[in-house]
Amino acid sequence: MLKKNLANVEAAIEASCKKGGRTRESVTLIAVSKTKPAELIQEAYDAGVRDFGENKVQEICDKYSKLPGDIRWHMIGHLQRNKVKHIIDKVCMIHSVDTYRLAEEINIQAKKHNVVMPILIEVNIADEQTKFGVQKEDAIQLAEEISHLDSLRTEGLMVVAPYVENPEDNRKYFQEIRQLAVDIENKNLDNVVMRRLSMGMTGDYTVAIEEGATMVRVGTGIFGARSYKQGPNNL
Ligand SMILES: *Cc1c(COP(=O)(O)O)cnc(C)c1O
Repeated sequence: MLKKNLANVEAAIEASCKKGGRTRESVTLIAVSKTKPAELIQEAYDAGVRDFGENKVQEICDKYSKLPGDIRWHMIGHLQRNKVKHIIDKVCMIHSVDTYRLAEEINIQAKKHNVVMPILIEVNIADEQTKFGVQKEDAIQLAEEISHLDSLRTEGLMVVAPYVENPEDNRKYFQEIRQLAVDIENKNLDNVVMRRLSMGMTGDYTVAIEEGATMVRVGTGIFGARSYKQGPNNL
């Protein structure tokens, strides 16, 4: 099942790369393994996947200790400042930076561990109240503010586009994100190299790739539907 899903996703990525005039190497597939058990992640690993996305600190810590050391873990969910210290030495990138205060804490912890942490600025492109991320209008200012934090490197933007039936409806947002990255790059800020666009999920990653995504985050399309336990622990 998982192997077949992966093969389908891989074929769709290749087709979109072709359509968008991109090389396959220019797009990283991040398998979003949140809520999925270590055994299933191991199965994806055995099929060749090395990049995995998680949205909870506790889950990263649990899975990190159980799974191969060459996995690249991506933090893609909302991150509380007091938890940064638990993942600073475990993740290869934090996709979800949306406040100066969070960036500042990542900088402090990165310095402590003698690393430079690659981060992305999360943009709330459709101005959805339920979502995290900075408003589009505020993204440049945040990039400017964090550019003096020298233990982090801003490498691009991340977006969680609205849930839509037709992925074409999100094309305009992906185009806006790409343009925003160009605008920020043109500011020539210290510690800012806008070379990554983390956009596209199961419902819309093909369109995102056509519009320049360099990282797609696919969960359901690889692992199947997620079943959440009911109850307050899920909040
Ligand atoms: C869950 C999640 C995904 C994957 O969503 P699917 O629709 O299952 O592919 C991608 N990005 C983020 C930030 C997520 O939280």
